[in-house]
Amino acid sequence: MIKIESLSKAFNGKKVINNLNLEIQKNKTLVLLGPNGSGKTTLLNIIAGLITPDKGNIYINNTIVQGTVGTKKVYLNPFERKIGYVFQTITLFPHMKIQDNIAYGLKSLHLTEIEIKKKTNTMLELVDLTKYAQAYPHQLSGGQQQRAALARSLATQPQIMLLDEPVSAVDPQLREPFRLELKKYLQTIETTTIYVTHNFNEAFIMADKIAILGNGHIEQIGNREEIFDKPQTTYVAKFLGTNIFKGKIIKQQQNNYLQIEINNTKLLTTSTNMELTEKNITITIKPENITLSTQKPTSPNTTNILQGTLTEITQTLTTTQTTVDIGFLIKTKNDPTTTKKLKLTIGDTIYITINPTDINILT
Ligand code: ADP
Repeated sequence: MIKIESLSKAFNGKKVINNLNLEIQKNKTLVLLGPNGSGKTTLLNIIAGLITPDKGNIYINNTIVQGTVGTKKVYLNPFERKIGYVFQTITLFPHMKIQDNIAYGLKSLHLTEIEIKKKTNTMLELVDLTKYAQAYPHQLSGGQQQRAALARSLATQPQIMLLDEPVSAVDPQLREPFRLELKKYLQTIETTTIYVTHNFNEAFIMADKIAILGNGHIEQIGNREEIFDKPQTTYVAKFLGTNIFKGKIIKQQQNNYLQIEINNTKLLTTSTNMELTEKNITITIKPENITLSTQKPTSPNTTNILQGTLTEITQTLTTTQTTVDIGFLIKTKNDPTTTKKLKLTIGDTIYITINPTDINILT
């Protein structure tokens, strides 16, 4: 368990961490997301004891490792915190073979030679480096070195793991299986983990919870669906690249739908618990949740059908992203196998459909 209370840190008068609070349950993985420069690495360094904060308390498994108790200042050295930290930059001992790098931390744990050997072999297998056991770091690629660094940190089964983009140095085609293995291993060794990544897909795979760091504090924390489907602040919505619109609530309908209006366009949503009528609101709609069609949908149950003009189209291997002008611009993201059949061309008249459950009102 990690608990952080009222943490602040400024560099040259600029507050990078500003009164941040965060709690991570024991044996869970929290994925920390945030744009470059939002303070993710600074936060990890403070938890590890490598940077001293200006104020705030940090507890690891209910023991204070940083902060004040009464009038007494507490600061535990990095090695006393029993934290495994995998940095973005590789930190292997250059003069030691890979197997000795991995065994390094195990030697201080009073294990037998056989136990150390067995553990080292398990770790080599996890990171797929068994055949490089006898090699030196300089004989490995960057990605392989990063995997060895990860194995060295995980080997001692620390109470806390801090992983700063640990997959970024792994070859792209190996990332998916590597993530799954890593997740399985983190669960096996029962460690509380903070996992920093830029990759939303990776966040989705690895996280028990996700926290978005911004403006020096945790802007939003929640499970995967809460973060990706129901962003609660404009900052989070922008960071996730979702559609954001200003609008107002018109009325609550009898069928439990709420009628809202964006730029004179009326839409229905199932979002509730709002103070009703004529309220200014901000809504978000995920581009992935917008259906495109070239013919007007005719099913009587379909609501929120809007006609527009296709103004932009970007095709990637896995998605078709478009911008549609429906009186205002809205972004969509769809599976290319579906959009291929529509034979989309810029300037086409197009219909978009939004399910009322997919319209999220920021609270
Ligand atoms: P992230 O990991 O989210 O990209 P960082 O924690 O590396 O962000 O940096 C957050 C901000 O703090 C940046 O503006 C960075 O320039 C600044 N910063 C980080 N470390 C230092 C330092 N040692 N001295 C001065 N500024 C720093």
